[in-house]
Amino acid sequence: MGIIENINKILEKLPKEVKLVAVSKTKPQEDILEAYEGGYRIFGENKPQELLEKYTNLPKDIEWHMIGHLQTNKVKYIAPFVSLIHAVDSIKLLKIINKEAKKNERVIDCLLQFHIAQEETKFGLGYEEAIEMLNSKEFTEMDSVRIVGLMGMATNTDDEKQVADEFACLKSIFAQLKDGFFHGKEYFKEISMGMSGDYNIAIEQGSTMVRVGSSIFGHRNYN
Ligand SMILES: *Cc1c(COP(=O)(O)O)cnc(C)c1O
Repeated sequence: MGIIENINKILEKLPKEVKLVAVSKTKPQEDILEAYEGGYRIFGENKPQELLEKYTNLPKDIEWHMIGHLQTNKVKYIAPFVSLIHAVDSIKLLKIINKEAKKNERVIDCLLQFHIAQEETKFGLGYEEAIEMLNSKEFTEMDSVRIVGLMGMATNTDDEKQVADEFACLKSIFAQLKDGFFHGKEYFKEISMGMSGDYNIAIEQGSTMVRVGSSIFGHRNYN
């Protein structure tokens, strides 16, 4: 099956309001162009230098999402053009994004990544930590970042009930933060959850944005 067929097959299963981020990390630019020529515009990458290189070489109306863990010293590579940063997991990182956004005279949209999986290796904020951050003076003074929602990754397991529970947990954190910090803020609306193996479950649990790589572009040789 071709890339476009794969995308269309997934889009058929997504409710209209759910966005598909085609995760093209490690894949060649030709693969992205193939999807682009089929009308597709939203791509996700997890390495800032790779993202910059693809941005530089590919059509400028692509919407680039930074989906993985981001090191503070690499924010500068993507700050001029990135559409959405999915995995903000510390105030230190958010501060740097704010600074680099300001330098580029723009506001960068970000998602707060929460740790919802049982695995210890996954990055992400805890609930208390997030509350502390959102309440801090430092955060309220940042004017070049905008928190538009949350992101999370479920445990890599065949136990669908566990995956569903973890996604439900993210949805409930979203509702609490909406109430406590983003009441009436229309832009706070995204819940980025679901990948190739679990996007169906994520949609049932209220995902607004799925990040799908291997089901579109095939298996990767490295991550
Ligand atoms: C690689 C990656 C994905 C996509 O994973 P697939 O299983 O290939 O769909 C989604 N989100 C993040 C953060 C990733 O790093």
